[in-house]
Amino acid sequence: STRAKETLKIGMIPADGIGHEVLPGAKAAIQALGSSIPKTEFVDLLAGFECFTRTGNALPVETVEALQNDCSCAMFGAVSSPSRKVAGYSSPIVALRKKLDLYANVRPVTSVASSRSAVDLVVVRENTECLYVKDETQTVGTNGKEARATRLITERASRRIGEMAFEIALNRPRKHLTIIHKSNVLSITDGLFRETIRGVPTLPGADGKYDGVTVAEQLVDSAVYRLFREPHIYDVMVAPNLYGDIISDAAAALVGSLGLVPSVNAGDTFVMGEPVHGSAPDIAGQNIANPLAAIRSAALMLRHLGHADGADRIERAVDEVIREGKCLTPDLGGKSKTTEVVEEVVKRI
Ligand code: ATP
Ligand code: MG
Repeated sequence: STRAKETLKIGMIPADGIGHEVLPGAKAAIQALGSSIPKTEFVDLLAGFECFTRTGNALPVETVEALQNDCSCAMFGAVSSPSRKVAGYSSPIVALRKKLDLYANVRPVTSVASSRSAVDLVVVRENTECLYVKDETQTVGTNGKEARATRLITERASRRIGEMAFEIALNRPRKHLTIIHKSNVLSITDGLFRETIRGVPTLPGADGKYDGVTVAEQLVDSAVYRLFREPHIYDVMVAPNLYGDIISDAAAALVGSLGLVPSVNAGDTFVMGEPVHGSAPDIAGQNIANPLAAIRSAALMLRHLGHADGADRIERAVDEVIREGKCLTPDLGGKSKTTEVVEEVVKRI
């Protein structure tokens, strides 16, 4: 209906630990945009380990249905991963990615400093296949136990992650895409990934749209080496699931605090913002968690929904607060509270 289009319904899932403290910051930043984005409506939803301990269910069916039927997007806080395996518990975030077909994990990593080695890149990680199909077997042979894992790469999944990566590159100033692979060893699986992505600009319907995007490729090992030596050479990096997992954590390490790095889980019809950090039980409940990763995740979510102006305004406000350095949480060497940092960002928006 037209009404559904006019209102942006955002599912809010704080989940566990500092998720409860940083998600209000994301909400406040979106609200501060006022009428420059469509009217917003926030829907509070339950999930996570705390929810599991209380109700026996880490992802209530009401939450999934609300997201599928009512919302066009969501913000996820953080989920605790119990250190030992707990019977009946599995991560709600993994389940949500599957149920909402969020096949891409997009993680921008930027440093505010404007030095020559400034980091300003986006890791686009395929999120549904590769070794994560979890198809493992163990047999006993002449070498004792033999364990095997199947690695699945399909043309469909490679094509859609490739299209998303080209689209993201097209909307960035440098328009440069690097395909990460290891096809000198895994010529069939990584070969398919690489060739399929290289073929995206020639797909029917692309019609020269990606002409401005330059494409490079790199073996994953040398990509990690260069990421640490000369991170400024990268703009958008697209990778199969496992390499993407490792590269996005390595890239996050380049900019210091986990409290700064945002992400979205994106599909064709739904997008969910999620700070990269976990539930941080060591600092939970003290109003000192850095809310900037969650706020940046909200901006990223808006960008994926086509509200680039709103996203820019939030990101500029966050960058200003970091650059000024007067109102920062302890992880960045400051003395400010979570809520004070949120106020500072909101004021600038
Ligand atoms: P989980 O099992 O939920 O991942 P964790 O103990 O691994 O919990 P993380 O959230 O991954 O915790 O964080 C690792 C470290 O980084 C912790 O010491 C945590 O306090 C710190 N940290 C994470 N997020 C933030 C944040 N937003 N602000 C400040 N410090 C943070
Ligand atoms: Mg963790």
